[in-house]
Amino acid sequence: MIRVEGLTKAYGPIQALRGVSFQVQAGEIVGLLGPNGAGKSTIIKILTGYLQPDEGIVEVDGLDVLTHRLEVQARIGYLPENTPLYPDMTVQAYLKMMADLRQIPPEKQTEYISEAVYATDIAGFLNRPIGKLSKGMRQRVGLAQAILHKPRLLILDEPTIGLDPTQLVEIRQLIRRLAQHSTVLFSSHILPEVEAVCHRAIIIMNGQIKADARLADLAATQNAILTLQRPVEGFESAVRQVRGVKRAERLPSTDGPSYRIYGEDNADLCPALFAAAAQMGWPVRELRADTRTLESVFNELATRA
Ligand code: ADP
Repeated sequence: MIRVEGLTKAYGPIQALRGVSFQVQAGEIVGLLGPNGAGKSTIIKILTGYLQPDEGIVEVDGLDVLTHRLEVQARIGYLPENTPLYPDMTVQAYLKMMADLRQIPPEKQTEYISEAVYATDIAGFLNRPIGKLSKGMRQRVGLAQAILHKPRLLILDEPTIGLDPTQLVEIRQLIRRLAQHSTVLFSSHILPEVEAVCHRAIIIMNGQIKADARLADLAATQNAILTLQRPVEGFESAVRQVRGVKRAERLPSTDGPSYRIYGEDNADLCPALFAAAAQMGWPVRELRADTRTLESVFNELATRA
């Protein structure tokens, strides 16, 4: 659905993107995650045809964004970081204006607007002026305009910024719901946001992609944690003999001796350890794969940037 290849962009002396490449398949929900200034909005503006890259290929649904800008924009629902909403207009009038702008035929407008209103749950305040709505409600109106023309791809720039905790939960649920019908790419500088909504994260820092993986894979390690019911003489040297094990490190623990067992690349450690424990008669209380928090992954990438 999205193909980006070797994207670069400078604003005068500021190199905002330094060779960004990624793909998003239809049906995916992907978070573009990175600190402020990383280049997220620049990528999004290029993808949506509002900004020209210096170099690189950008395709949406197989169409080159640079040469087929209008066709691409017709396929995308876009929620910019600061949605231009008109404070004196009612929600109803605003959606009608957007339907006209989107060139939805007049006879279809009522149906399309109703569907967007229903999906974003804004029926209760259609006659209110936009300026009188809370930030969370305004964001839902912004999402309603983004999905009005039933786009197959939704691109949302920091959709939850400035929301209070209740509104945040509502907008996250709404994004997940919208993702049932469209591919979604959204940006955020907040890690829990990405964890809450999507399965895959593209981590961008300083105009470069630092990681692009399923969240579960980012958190995974080669290691296992093994806890014994009681100390076993010579355990550390015995466990080093197990296939795929590099070394074992004793962890501070109160309920029985606990070890982090370091595995070699691609070693499937838990089954090998389980078999060894059965063979050696080790009194195992717990054996599990070791995982890192995404926060530690993110911090590690940030310090390497
Ligand atoms: P993010 O969305 O991740 O916060 P941006 O894409 O907005 O990052 O910005 C990337 C870099 O480009 C930052 O250093 C920012 O200051 C700079 N930048 C963005 N827009 C402009 C602009 N219009 N003029 C000059 N510099 C800009």
